[in-house]
Parts: sequence; structure tokens; C-alpha cells
Amino acid sequence: MARLVMKFGGTSVADIERIRNVARHVKREVDAGHQVAVVVSAMSGTTNQLVAWTRETAKLHDAREYDTIVATGEQVTVGLLAIALQEMGVSARSWLGWQIPILTDGAHGAARIQEIDGAGLIERLEEGQVAVIAGFQGLGPDQRITTLGRGGSDTSAVAIAAAIQADRCDIYTDVDGVYTTDPRIVAKARKLDKISYEEMLEMASQGAKVLQTRSVELAMVHRVRLQVRSSFDAPDAPHILAGEIPGTLVCDEEEIVEQQVVSGIAYSRDEAKVTLLNVADRPGIAARIFGPLANSSINVDMIIQNVSDDGKYTHMTFTVPQAELARAEDVIRKAKDEIGYEDMGTDLNVVKVSVIGIGMRSHCGVAATMFETLAEKGINIQAITTSEIKVSVLIAAEYSELAVRALHTAYGMDAE
Ligand code: ASP
Ligand code: MG
Repeated sequence: MARLVMKFGGTSVADIERIRNVARHVKREVDAGHQVAVVVSAMSGTTNQLVAWTRETAKLHDAREYDTIVATGEQVTVGLLAIALQEMGVSARSWLGWQIPILTDGAHGAARIQEIDGAGLIERLEEGQVAVIAGFQGLGPDQRITTLGRGGSDTSAVAIAAAIQADRCDIYTDVDGVYTTDPRIVAKARKLDKISYEEMLEMASQGAKVLQTRSVELAMVHRVRLQVRSSFDAPDAPHILAGEIPGTLVCDEEEIVEQQVVSGIAYSRDEAKVTLLNVADRPGIAARIFGPLANSSINVDMIIQNVSDDGKYTHMTFTVPQAELARAEDVIRKAKDEIGYEDMGTDLNVVKVSVIGIGMRSHCGVAATMFETLAEKGINIQAITTSEIKVSVLIAAEYSELAVRALHTAYGMDAE
């Protein structure tokens, strides 16, 4: 017997028939003798609609009321799934975030989970009742409903898994696992059997949409074994009944026997490039630029300072998330006198492509291969950043697919 968390995303609960299908997946695990907690998202499209209504009512709105509104999507799906399970003769009840409670900080709209007391859930699980838990929501210190940021139900699932000491957290989604890169762009992308927490964290934060970044962070900290798998597999397919899980396991790197140097390529269109022309080339200038951005909680990713020709002036280029560009421009403009730049340029027509692999720690030449491959295709690199297990470049958006495909081939990742 195992204790499982099963998480289903919006497309998996998009209508009543799919909710019934989810119930069949759950029943299969219950029939096999496992204790099951299920975490669900809202029906696909629902949260977008709720967000849109909030914005339509007032562009600048009370974040506490925003949370009251957008958390309702999950209230519907937990109730429906509990009923669907009961219809199949499975004992189940719904749980909202505040009922458990899932305690968060007070950052409405982007709250972080601080504590979950799993005792009440465990008691019910041991009695054989399935817990159907609303993802994405919690209870703030102000005793009001909070939400965890878009895509947050992945994080709910991992946090619940940690709180009830689950043996595994299965993330059922509309893809059947984690791929070497986006299969919609590269037909020869391969599904990975296993990927380490560190690599998955880079993949998610560099643009792969399969898991919310924070959920991977949390899984890594609490060593929760995460299995990404398809919710569209028939719940009673013979291989699934036999306990075979044809997805991707996110786990400790020690568990991965066949290490690849590069395990994946991610890309993100969410970048905006800012260039400051002719800033003084002297100590303290970088602090004057990036200090105010940090104080405004704007996340700067890539930074390059060009060499100065005359020793007096230089150009500074950096990237921020597109959603933060307007605020970043505002902050920089307000600090213009202090920084002392001549002009500011911005560019949204960029994409960040990253190659990721823990094998980079012990192999050299990964970055060189990347640069050579892009050069062969005539693609200009506008900025570079690296970490121990990642190399990212910023290129013009129109080359993104060409670059991802060429790199996938260059690192020998194409499926036969
Ligand atoms: N329903 C929420 C959203 O759409 C949470 C989630 O799906 O993970 O962002
Ligand atoms: Mg999701």
C-alpha cells in the first residue's frame, strides 16, 4: 500500500466527462489499496475568465478580492469530482484550502505556502476516504483566501505530498511526460524517463511550461518524487493496471543511471531587452541601475556591459520579463539623473534559448557547441548567461524555432 497524491490540471477536468475519467483514475488507485489525496485545478479557461472579469471591473483592484474571485474555479471542480467519485462507490470529500488549512503568507495573488498540518487529512485517508483538495488556494494571515499565482495547483499538490508524507506525487497533465524540448517545435523531441530536480527546475524557469517552477523547487527541498504523466491514458489500460507508469519521473540525480551531458532545451518568449546607451564607465553605475529595479521587485535576468571605446562611456543591456517592462522603464526613467545615461531602447522581439544538463558540471565544450551551432545558422547572439548546469542565449525571436531544432540535433538528442 502506498500513499499517493494525484494532481489533475485544467484540461483534465474541462468537462463532466473528463471529470468522470479523472474519477476512474482515482478509483483505480483506491482499488489497488492505496491512500489517495487528489488535487485539482479549475476547468480549463475558467481562471482566465475570472481574471478577465476582475480586470474588467477595475484595472487596479484590491488583491484580496481578486483572490476571493479567482479561487472559485477550484471550488467547483473539487465538488464535482467528489460527487463523481461517490457515484462510483468511492468514499470521498472535498477540501478547500482554508478547511485543511493550507496556511500561506499574505502576498495576495502570489502567496507562498508556509504550513500545512497534514494530520486531519491523514486521519481521513487512513479511514479509506479520498481527499479531493482545491489547488491554487490557501488561507492568509489576515484570515482571507489567498492564491498561489497562475499554475499554482502544481505547487499545492507538491506541498500536500510533503505534508502527508506521500510516497509519490503524480502530476496528470495533457502531455505524457517531460520532453527534451517542446515536441510542437521539434518533431524528434524525446520523452525523458527521468530528470533530476535541478534540471527540471532550470527547464521550468527557462520556459518549459510543464510544471510551475515553484512546485519543482518545493519538490526538490522536500525530496518529493514527482511523476509527470498523461491524464488521457485510459484509466484501465493494461499497462497502467500492471503498474507501469509511462511518464517522466523527477527525482534525485543519484537515481539517474544514464546521465546525459545535455538533457533538454528550453525557450522563453517572455523576455524583454532593455539597452541603456552611453552610461558612464565608472564604479557604482551598475548599482544605480539595478538597485532601483531590485527595490521594485523587478527580476533582471541577463546582463551585459559592453566594453567602452574611450574608457568613459559604455552601453548596458539587460533583460526583464515582458510583463515587467513598463514598470522597469518607469523605474529607469525616474533614476535617469542619478544613472546618467543618454538614451534607453527596448526590444520585445527576442527569445531566450537555454541548453540544460547536469553533465555540464563535468564536461567542457557545451557552450562552444551552442555558439558554433548558432553561428552556422547565421544567428546572432545578443546576450549570454550561464549557470553550473545551463547556458542561455538571447536571440531575435524569428530564429527561435530554427535555433531550438539545430541545437537539439547538435547535442545528439534527436529521436531515431
Ligand atoms: N487554475 C489556476 C490557473 O489557471 C491554477 C492552476 O491551474 O494551476 O492558474
Ligand atoms: Mg498547470
